[in-house]
Amino acid sequence: MLYMKDLLALSRFRFISLLTNPSRYMVDWALTWHTLMFQPTFDNSFTKENVSRHHTLKFQLFLEDLPTLESLKRTRPDLYMEILTCRSCEDHLEDFMHLFLCKKRRVKLHQLLTSYLYYLTQKIKEAGDNANCDYSSLVDRITSLPCWSFSSSNWSSYSLVCGYLPTAFLEVFETLGIPRLAAMNVVAAIHNNFVNKFRKRI
Ligand SMILES: [Zn+2]
Repeated sequence: MLYMKDLLALSRFRFISLLTNPSRYMVDWALTWHTLMFQPTFDNSFTKENVSRHHTLKFQLFLEDLPTLESLKRTRPDLYMEILTCRSCEDHLEDFMHLFLCKKRRVKLHQLLTSYLYYLTQKIKEAGDNANCDYSSLVDRITSLPCWSFSSSNWSSYSLVCGYLPTAFLEVFETLGIPRLAAMNVVAAIHNNFVNKFRKRI
């Protein structure tokens, strides 16, 4: 958390101020940092190299620093010609934002977000059942967040994919009596699962 303030001063994080309705998607920096540093438990199918790739991708998403074609053109102009376009749609320049808006990747990305929402709501239901509480309004609260679909003006979904996670994710678990740290671990595990799928499919 110590470095978070310095990090946020970077111009690349300016988009966070563009979240049009902070009351619906307010970034929780403690949760964001916890998730970034979270070490998920991997099964035996994960090699050391996979784990390292997973961490690299998580930080690249957070820092908007993926090796897109546009960034490769800047760093290796000897290898990447200026005329190269997106490897998927071959229709646009492939910068960081295009990864999310590319028409050939949109369906896959939407599936990943749907699965993210599914795991999150399953955990809320589980916590609700354990606490013997009615969880329906909490599930509605999460489902109605604006981050589950993509558009060029929807900064909340962009924030979610980059790992800037909303306070609502924690608040629903805390309402059900889950201690804050345990709630952070649940959310971090679900987000890491999402990053892992993003690495394989996008
Ligand atoms: Zn494309």
